[in-house]
Amino acid sequence: MTSTALSRTDLLPGVQAFLSSERRLLIGDEWVPAASGRTFATLDPATGEALVEVAHGDAVDVERAVAAAKAAFEPGSAWRRTTPRQRARLLWRAAELVDQHADELAQLETLDNGKPLASSLGDVGVAAELFRYFAGWATKIEGTTIPMSVEGKSYLAYTVREPVGVVGAIVPWNFPLTMACFKVIPSLTAGNTVVLKPAEQTPLTALRLGELLLEAGFPPGAVNVVTGFGEAGAALVEHPDVDKVAFTGSTATGKRIVQAAAGNLKKVSLELGGKAPNIIFADADLPAAIAGSAHAGFFNQGQCCVNGSRLYVQRDVYDEVVEGIARIARDITIGSGFDPSTDMGPLITAEQQSMVLGHVERSMADGATAVAGGARGIDQGFFMQPTLLTGVGEDWPMQRLEVFGPVVTATPFESENEVLRLANDTRYGLAAGVWTRDAGRAHRVGHALRAGTVWLNTWHADDVVLPRGGFKESGWGRELGSFGLDDFTELKTVISDIG
Ligand code: NAD
Repeated sequence: MTSTALSRTDLLPGVQAFLSSERRLLIGDEWVPAASGRTFATLDPATGEALVEVAHGDAVDVERAVAAAKAAFEPGSAWRRTTPRQRARLLWRAAELVDQHADELAQLETLDNGKPLASSLGDVGVAAELFRYFAGWATKIEGTTIPMSVEGKSYLAYTVREPVGVVGAIVPWNFPLTMACFKVIPSLTAGNTVVLKPAEQTPLTALRLGELLLEAGFPPGAVNVVTGFGEAGAALVEHPDVDKVAFTGSTATGKRIVQAAAGNLKKVSLELGGKAPNIIFADADLPAAIAGSAHAGFFNQGQCCVNGSRLYVQRDVYDEVVEGIARIARDITIGSGFDPSTDMGPLITAEQQSMVLGHVERSMADGATAVAGGARGIDQGFFMQPTLLTGVGEDWPMQRLEVFGPVVTATPFESENEVLRLANDTRYGLAAGVWTRDAGRAHRVGHALRAGTVWLNTWHADDVVLPRGGFKESGWGRELGSFGLDDFTELKTVISDIG
């Protein structure tokens, strides 16, 4: 691993213009300061320097945004009068605008989050595809007719899917734009109105998305954006006029949201943390398994809920796999996301960096070995070397907690039964993976793994058409695909006496 000089390419004029003024809240169709007048700085994690001041929204601002979203959902409003086809066209228009501004959005994401520019561009591409995918669904939200059997009477019974109402969308910082789109787009597709609360660490692309949605023609109040901290998120969750909360974030915050949502029993969907087991059997295609497992562990600076952070390797090939992944880790170039030679950017904050480093240092003090990495890497910003640890006990915090950094632990195993027990011995259940040439074993182990996504001989293969979500403490509900759209609708049953 080598460090690189931190360099930032010239920013696009659109990005410079975006950053040249204080960023405000989107309420209705107006950009307004926080009622308190307060702002906070969003930082460049590659340097630790402030990028721009952003409105510090709080409960008062959430009140205003929810009122705008509620008004936009009233019967007869411009938004409620849109037909499914008009909604589809608005979504297509938004996709075009995202494509047109892809380079600007990517620069903003890399500035705010730190990830390599190519990754940010990939994320923007996913956002555009999400708009197009859900545009197709807008005209296909259908019900069914259901025959009733009541002797001597005739009824016509059918179901309709209706929007839930006002959706509070609360998202984290690891994929700021795509996480916002995961919630805002299906909300709008189904005819809801939304109040989006981006993560305090990465508010910029959510604000730019708000601008693009207004430009696309979504009517006032259909989308509102309140930047702020956890208190703003909490106000949204507690608000009696919010009908559903769609949340992605940590399991700890998810539990607080479930309690706070009890006031009006609003619907809650939760995409939470993970600690994915990645199992390599001795009969696997080892070069593919080694490369795939490094990608599984270190993708997105390790800050990805489905990353394969617990690696289990069958004893016969353990040394070869550990050495192979360590070699890849040592070759990863960390540096500014704007440097084209950078493979891995910084972690999101100084707190995240010291939390990850603290877990690594504690593990090493307890007897673990860092066969790759184990330290910061670059003094400036919030960097962390991709790290492979061996000798970590199954009951250590490193192995139990979601560390959410570029750290993989490798543990040898002997048998299928043993590794299944180890893999499933976690409170999380978001993702898991298996590498083997034995197709029967791949599916047998895949079925036995208690996780919402299972990869067989691959990792991070993905598409916006696929549902995702967690077993156990990794969440409630599923996002994306048709399953994900259902979560943004209420099902109504209509029974009519027809003689
Ligand atoms: P976090 O829970 O600290 O914060 C997420 C969001 O919740 C932020 O916008 C924050 O301001 C807000 N928030 C904080 N306290 C709140 C409260 N009491 N009420 C309402 N909102 C509140 O999570 P994070 O550190 O920003 O993100 C990392 C976490 O997200 C990891 O655990 C990761 O696994 C998870 N994640 C999960 C998925 C998934 O699909 N399952 C995807 C990405 C990230």
